[in-house]
Amino acid sequence: QTTSTIADEGRQRLAAGPLAVSFDQVAVQYEKERDFALRDITFQLAAGETLGLLGRTGSGKTTLTRLLLRLVEPTSGAIHLGATGVVPSALPLTELRRHIGMVTQDVQLFPATIRDNLTFFDPTVSDETLLAIAQRLGLAEWLTNLPAGLDTQVGAGGQGLSAGQAQLVAFLRIGLQDPGLVILDEPASRLDPVTERLLDQAIGRLLQGRTGIIIAHRLATVQRVDKIMILAEGRVVELGERAVLLAQQ
Ligand code: ATP
Ligand code: MG
Repeated sequence: QTTSTIADEGRQRLAAGPLAVSFDQVAVQYEKERDFALRDITFQLAAGETLGLLGRTGSGKTTLTRLLLRLVEPTSGAIHLGATGVVPSALPLTELRRHIGMVTQDVQLFPATIRDNLTFFDPTVSDETLLAIAQRLGLAEWLTNLPAGLDTQVGAGGQGLSAGQAQLVAFLRIGLQDPGLVILDEPASRLDPVTERLLDQAIGRLLQGRTGIIIAHRLATVQRVDKIMILAEGRVVELGERAVLLAQQ
């Protein structure tokens, strides 16, 4: 099911703050007669914990994250969010998507200024607010050192920004959104060392006081998570505390 066809009839709310997540035997089949993209996915993340998702291409990592935003609906099983264990469909979509922030591999950028790209053209968001968030994420210097600062024009399709820089923009957007759960699909491409260092620092700060689910491609990111889940062909083949899993190697 696509976003345009899902029901938006929920009336529940989520409390602010880090969001607990639990999956109970969740399965996803995109089309009848096709293999399941996910099968029997069960795990719990306490509020404030971070999960690293690993697995080969096609193993179901992105599908798992898309379930949380109802970009995909479970074929069976259930997902519960927050201290009260609300199912995503019991929340208005706007509420769900306010509390869960997602950074995808290909960040959507508009041919507009960096400011408008950060605020989504909302003129009520002040430059001071943007700079305060950048400061918190360790990105203030990067932002002000752009050719024209917040007035820097981004070309169509994000022209003028590298993939890594586009991620920095996405992180600032998440900082502004201030969700209780951050989902990060890390770019698999190589990053330049300066941007990589900025990203690393920003990820750490973004995850402070939030729950996180990270599809990690870099060792530095894997080393940041509390728990690791390895998927293979839609199934969990490994799940546990990072420290324990590493000690078993
Ligand atoms: P990658 O590392 O390449 O990003 P992934 O682990 O994120 O892979 P998914 O994108 O979740 O894997 O895909 C899991 C399975 O579901 C794959 O077999 C894929 O072909 C299938 N799939 C993903 N999206 C759709 C879709 N919209 N419609 C049909 N099948 C899909
Ligand atoms: Mg993916």
